[in-house]
Amino acid sequence: MRGWIISTLIVTTFVLLGGETTARAAGFYTVKGHLFYYDGRSQGMRPVDQYNGAANVTFYIYDEDQNSSDDLLATGIVDWDGRFEATFYFDQSSESYADIYIHFIYHNSKWEVVASDGGHYWLYTETKPNRAYGIVDFGNLFVPRNTNHEKAMWVFQSMNEGWNYVEYINAWDVGDQITVQWPGHPECPTSCADWDGIQIAQNRAGDTVNVIHEYGHMVNFRAWGGTGPDPYYCLTEGPNADNCGHNWNSWEENYTAFMEGWANFVAYATLGCIGNNDCLDIEDRSYNVMDAGNEGNVTAVLGDILDDHPDSHAQDIFKGYDGISWNFYGMVWILGHMSEDEIDAKPTIKHYVNEIREVYDDISYIAWHELMHNSWVIY
Ligand SMILES: [Zn+2]
Repeated sequence: MRGWIISTLIVTTFVLLGGETTARAAGFYTVKGHLFYYDGRSQGMRPVDQYNGAANVTFYIYDEDQNSSDDLLATGIVDWDGRFEATFYFDQSSESYADIYIHFIYHNSKWEVVASDGGHYWLYTETKPNRAYGIVDFGNLFVPRNTNHEKAMWVFQSMNEGWNYVEYINAWDVGDQITVQWPGHPECPTSCADWDGIQIAQNRAGDTVNVIHEYGHMVNFRAWGGTGPDPYYCLTEGPNADNCGHNWNSWEENYTAFMEGWANFVAYATLGCIGNNDCLDIEDRSYNVMDAGNEGNVTAVLGDILDDHPDSHAQDIFKGYDGISWNFYGMVWILGHMSEDEIDAKPTIKHYVNEIREVYDDISYIAWHELMHNSWVIY
């Protein structure tokens, strides 16, 4: 059993108020309340270090039966304010009242968070007995603090924000439900993603960028249709062979730079921290990697394609040249051309921009393309 009694205190209060019993049960019930969690993540679309609504968690309303299996009365999705509500008709001639309780499960049709044994995270309320039709209000319910359920909710909410940016705001369908395991497999000490799903490391539950980065990889795999070969960070040839890493400024194999640069882009774009609001100064810094991939540059270039303001490059020569806004679909176009073979065929992002230019003969491209992001343009 994986569930947790939610805030016994609150439920007790209601039971006390529960004295309001009336006639037959048959009729319309409206069951409602709010589910909150304490948002202890590093950052989010909403302010953190406060209680936020457990958005997009699924709830199931049951009638507890002593003599047979409980009846599922209704189900629904918690909204961004944590509000859940369902109205349904209940008529069980064998019973005079309904004994109502609620299950919350960390899943929906697009993603789910499961524990290391694959089991779902779920929460349930105590039963409100002898309820006649009408409103049954569960009030404010809280995910227990400092528990695995709280941390799993952080992972769930970071996925929620990635989904919100890619699939809701930009309306690009990533496809079937994504399974996210927390704590992730020990083989993924910094989290990882492959076709089967996402593993979030034990100590990364509250690391919003880390979770959405891995979601970014799933977007890539799903768009590209591949199984997501293991990226190899280290260069195999050239002066920097094996002098490698996996961060903004490191040298990487080209394919890795695209995969990691894209995943970083999804994380920072989701958090509103790229493009017009370049709060991490991603785009202005020049990543002077000459002959190989650099994920920081890929992220910066994607941000440039997305935003609609010229970056304040240090060097005047670059000012006012990348006033391009090609919205998310530009990303999707690039995403659709990120297979390993494609990337091998086009060793630099310059080749991509050439192709984009052929497709979209936008005058400003010429300027931006010619000057694209410092070092990569030159070689
Ligand atoms: Zn990655």
